[in-house]
Amino acid sequence: MRVEILGTAAGGGFPQWNCACRNCSLARAGTFPTRSRTQLQVALSSDEKSWFLLNASPDVTRQIESSSFLHPSGGTRHSPISGVLLTSAELDQSLGLLLLREYQPLQVFATASVRRILREDNSMFSMLERSEDQARWHDVVPGTPFNLCSQTGGQAGIECLPLSVARRYPSYVPTQRTAELCACEAVLGVILSSGKRLGYFPSIGKIDDSLLEQLNSLDVLLFDGTFWTDDELIRLQIGTRTAREMGHIPVSSPDGSLDLLSGLRCPKKMFVHINNTNPMLDATGPAWQKVRDSGWEIAEEGCHLEL
Ligand SMILES: [Zn+2]
Repeated sequence: MRVEILGTAAGGGFPQWNCACRNCSLARAGTFPTRSRTQLQVALSSDEKSWFLLNASPDVTRQIESSSFLHPSGGTRHSPISGVLLTSAELDQSLGLLLLREYQPLQVFATASVRRILREDNSMFSMLERSEDQARWHDVVPGTPFNLCSQTGGQAGIECLPLSVARRYPSYVPTQRTAELCACEAVLGVILSSGKRLGYFPSIGKIDDSLLEQLNSLDVLLFDGTFWTDDELIRLQIGTRTAREMGHIPVSSPDGSLDLLSGLRCPKKMFVHINNTNPMLDATGPAWQKVRDSGWEIAEEGCHLEL
């Protein structure tokens, strides 16, 4: 399985258009030690012909253009992208679907609840339904493995195990609608395997023993690196909610992911979905060094993985 990391940032990207935090200000001034980052996007394939996107970021069309393996190669209208697997209905994970609307046939894998939020409650998503063979939605059930399939229904050689990892729907979903939906379908982490196992967990609210057991079985882990501390946005006076209240376990501090996953047996561990305020983005700073000393990497755009 080939895995390509096309974007690594949390919602808003880095720098974020309306943010003047230390990281964003230095990035604009050209004095930040690492380059700008687009919003999290991963693509994977078992045969390097048929590709699947893990979520669809608002930067997806730019990310496709900068990745030659995702360019059309079979006629005037063609895409090697067979499908999109959605782990939640968050905008930074799903908005890019709307940008893939040009009558391109796509398989969309999502829980029934996420499908209902996008298709039934947001009329713009009907742009994906203008022709019969355009978007084909497949309901994903947490805990039930399934195979990713291509446009023609053929198996793509990648098995996916979806796991329910948080029970919080995006804040744009009305309370009444949330009450009708199954909370266990709100946020998924997924384990993708074609022999070796990739874990994709961009949003994790809590780590329990059953999740730890799954993570210990992985060859590569892409994990929630959104915030460094629980009170990151409050301390910067740009938000009122803690990281945990937003569904993200912070990287540092006791009970943070570095601490709770310190005994993890997975040999390659990378943080993704990194918010622009996170001090670990600064490769000259102590937070970045702590991540590296703990055996973790901070994912970079353009990173290729072979599993
Ligand atoms: Zn910022």
